[in-house]
Amino acid sequence: MDYEAYFKNELDSVREEGRYRVFTDIKRHKGSFPHATRFVDDETRPVTVWCSNDYLGMGQHPDVIEAMHDCLEECGAGAGGTRNISGTNHYHVELERELADLHGKEAALLFTSGYVSNWAGLGTLANKIPDCVVFSDALNHASMIEGIRHSRAPYKIWKHNDPEDLDRLLSDFGPDVPKLVAFESVYSMDGDIAPIAEILDVCEKHGAMSYIDEVHAVGLYGPRGGGIAEREGLMDRITVIEGTLGKAFGVMGGYIAASSNLVDFVRSFASGFIFSTALPPAVAAGAAASIRHLKTSNKERETQKERVAQVRRRLDMLGIPHLDNPSHIIPVMVGDAKKCKMISDWLMDNHGIYVQPINYPTVPVGTERLRLTPSPVHSDDDIDRLVEALSEIWSQCELARMAVAA
Ligand SMILES: *Cc1c(COP(=O)(O)O)cnc(C)c1O
Repeated sequence: MDYEAYFKNELDSVREEGRYRVFTDIKRHKGSFPHATRFVDDETRPVTVWCSNDYLGMGQHPDVIEAMHDCLEECGAGAGGTRNISGTNHYHVELERELADLHGKEAALLFTSGYVSNWAGLGTLANKIPDCVVFSDALNHASMIEGIRHSRAPYKIWKHNDPEDLDRLLSDFGPDVPKLVAFESVYSMDGDIAPIAEILDVCEKHGAMSYIDEVHAVGLYGPRGGGIAEREGLMDRITVIEGTLGKAFGVMGGYIAASSNLVDFVRSFASGFIFSTALPPAVAAGAAASIRHLKTSNKERETQKERVAQVRRRLDMLGIPHLDNPSHIIPVMVGDAKKCKMISDWLMDNHGIYVQPINYPTVPVGTERLRLTPSPVHSDDDIDRLVEALSEIWSQCELARMAVAA
């Protein structure tokens, strides 16, 4: 076989479908994020990032930076091993305590990413519990889907955010069949939020375990940043809460929080946990500092809400169509892959505004969009420049506008 030709052919077809991913090469600047420097064709240019998942700017928070520096000096670069073989650093232990406390659970378990926590957490539970059936929301993240597939357990897909459909599917299985219901709180592409209480009612009615991915909610919602389930007083009814340390907490890593027995079970059986080097201690120290800060400080959450409302209001005034949702994510709808990419390129080249186009297969064809994530570190001036540029390109491309609010 001509391997090289095969690779090239496959890539060519991705390109033809307009799905080829080009990474934007930037340096984020501590202290002035969302401002960054873009590297392009041996030149550098200033950019403002509007599509980051560092939702609260915690990646540059002084407490986080200081904790990481101190730990790096104290412990050195890497963990030095898997958790089982010399790699459990005291900072990992402290972080797991912090996470268990954040979610009001007995225990928590740290993974190298949110992806791995879903893949290993769901994969292990569904695979190891005899005859377990998984019930997965239709819009679950790739990491959950891969974990469920990898478990080889039978699974059913229920209609997105539809507890009645879940109830109907669960009713096909007797009370003795172990069941695992997997869903998210904030869905990151539409920014909609699951009816968690209703879903939990259905889970409890059928004796099913519940597994919630709060990746786009931890740090952001709830009085201590515990997520939507904390905000709604539902954490104690959920079997497993999964989250990331790489988005609102601004660092890296993933975790599950649950009962001691469940966490100990995953710790003891999950290959993706056992056979992988532990996170660098400095990463754990930085994440713990971020969580501690957001447990008591509401300032970042409040300013973010204001910024989100401000951007929405400005878009409404200009009639630029965006999905209405109850979260911090603003999907500006374009509805065409090529236009979406073109607008994104134009914003970058003419205004130094960086918004990654979101195309198929991340979202369905015809719903291509620009996903804006306003944060407390975006200034009034940043917002002015964004909405003025969007309005300009909307006129240039003769894109449809919504009725303008009076
Ligand atoms: C980003 C994401 C993950 C993965 O988390 P990482 O820490 O980035 O690996 C899991 N679930 C959802 C819904 C996500 O959007």
